[in-house]
Amino acid sequence: MPGPRELLALVMRLAYNRGLINIKGGNASIREGDGFWVTPSQLPKNMLKPDDMVYVRLNGEWEGRHNPSIEYIMHLMIYREIKNIKGVLHTHNPHTLALYESGLSINPAKYIEAYSIGGCIAVVPKLPAGSKELAEKVIEALRKCRVAVLLGHGAVAATQKDIFTALDALEALEDISKVELLKAILNIKNYLKTT
Ligand SMILES: [Zn+2]
Repeated sequence: MPGPRELLALVMRLAYNRGLINIKGGNASIREGDGFWVTPSQLPKNMLKPDDMVYVRLNGEWEGRHNPSIEYIMHLMIYREIKNIKGVLHTHNPHTLALYESGLSINPAKYIEAYSIGGCIAVVPKLPAGSKELAEKVIEALRKCRVAVLLGHGAVAATQKDIFTALDALEALEDISKVELLKAILNIKNYLKTT
């Protein structure tokens, strides 16, 4: 069974290949021991190696050969504030952003695939990446829902299971967003035809 650092490298490669992040975007972490492993800042996310991961203790001290992701404070605060979280994944879902930035949203109850998202999707206002304010709003959101959309930014999922459960939720979010967007476009076409 691969360890947390191998799993982080794999999940980032999958998220990149799936178009959920660009080469230097997104971040992920997995809880272990006194703290958690988190992806490093800046390095290409499709070729991370286990040794690139940074270990962050719950007291905020970190060690590693790279700086931790700019969002490591958000991961740290999530583990401190919400019980039993085992992993956190943050991506930049383009279709989800297009949908929510257009003032539309998803009703997960409408889609079988939303099973992995759970019953709700929280929405967080646009706040600077890496800020404490963003971390606080994300915690508020993740107390209610497994997945939160970050306006002007992307999405985040926290899991009490393995990190692939978080990836599954963010993939489902992106796929359903795509369906909703296509539906909106087709509806406009139908509307134009009849007027
Ligand atoms: Zn981001």
